[in-house]
Amino acid sequence: MRITDISTLKLRYPMATPMADAIHYMPERTALLVQINTDDGLTGLGECAAYGGSLDSMERIVLDDLHPTLIGEDPFRVERLWSRMARRSHQRGTSGMLMQAISGVDIALWDLIGQATKTPLYRLLGGYHETLDAYASAGFYAGDKGPTLLAEEVGGYAARGFRTVKMKVGRNPKTMLNPLPDMWAPHYATATLEEDVERVRAARSAIGPAVRLAIDANNAWTPPVAIQFMRQVAGQNIYWLEEPVATDDLEGSAEVARALDIPVAGYETATGLANFRDLIARRAVDIVQPDVIWTGGITLCRKVAAMAQAHGLPVVPHVFSSAVATIANMHFIASLPNGGLLEFDQNPNPLRSELFTEPIDVQPDGTVSLPDRPGLGVTLNQATIDRYRVA
Ligand SMILES: [Mg+2]
Repeated sequence: MRITDISTLKLRYPMATPMADAIHYMPERTALLVQINTDDGLTGLGECAAYGGSLDSMERIVLDDLHPTLIGEDPFRVERLWSRMARRSHQRGTSGMLMQAISGVDIALWDLIGQATKTPLYRLLGGYHETLDAYASAGFYAGDKGPTLLAEEVGGYAARGFRTVKMKVGRNPKTMLNPLPDMWAPHYATATLEEDVERVRAARSAIGPAVRLAIDANNAWTPPVAIQFMRQVAGQNIYWLEEPVATDDLEGSAEVARALDIPVAGYETATGLANFRDLIARRAVDIVQPDVIWTGGITLCRKVAAMAQAHGLPVVPHVFSSAVATIANMHFIASLPNGGLLEFDQNPNPLRSELFTEPIDVQPDGTVSLPDRPGLGVTLNQATIDRYRVA
């Protein structure tokens, strides 16, 4: 089997109501899909995380920089191809956009290996789990959504069977060194720290004591603010605190992790092997959160998971894009002895809910099953592609 062609699909869904986390404003959801064709007629599918910039800039890395390394090559040599893609572009850096681009290609190569061997990808990777527990990833800031509407929203996830719910905190422009003033739409749907405490309390009382509640600060805080906030929500039984501080503040994150008896989770914004090595080795996190479309593909994320396992840490990947990101991360998580929990975005996004002919459904008990078909085991829905495709 030889690679004959690589192409991309750019998708965009404009949101009816923009949403925001601590520092990011989201008026739309986008996705850059990668398709790799082979001489025996198979097409592998992947996705490159395109957060932080245009779909076009990411597409150019795939089609101009990575493409020449792949044409004529055997997808089964994914480890060698990964290495060549990274090394031939190493002057661009060992993290960031290059890893995002390699991620999408790597996923498509693994999809091809699964299809060629007629084996579901999670089984090829070791098949530790056959079902995953999904957690509801939601509770964003939006418009005038206050504690009451937030409580109504997250209470709905508990009622639908989710055993874990995550909400956003940290959109507090007045806290010291908060990056928000430099971000897009910094005045949209902000909250004071006190209002965030109120939002967390409202969410906890809406979901009741039996459902786990995680909170995500998306890099907004300094260590003292994070520690102070956690003291104020001490009675709310928080399951984890995600990305409390800036991704490159390893010492600060380690300080928060040492100060709290609640796990620090992160950092989806870290990419590449060395950055995750440092987060893990320096105990900057208690829960490790790579993402196969962002960190460096399945090939790299397996190594991150092994490092986490060697340090006694669980892996709970970041999953927040199209259905390709969901299914690719599902196969990865299902392979992990130190994983099993799937982030399941609850915000409206047809690129997630309508992209495949067979949608990924959360069962009434909050679980998701892996498909029993070769590779990623999915088929793109052409009507959805046509509706949201960017020329
Ligand atoms: Mg997050």
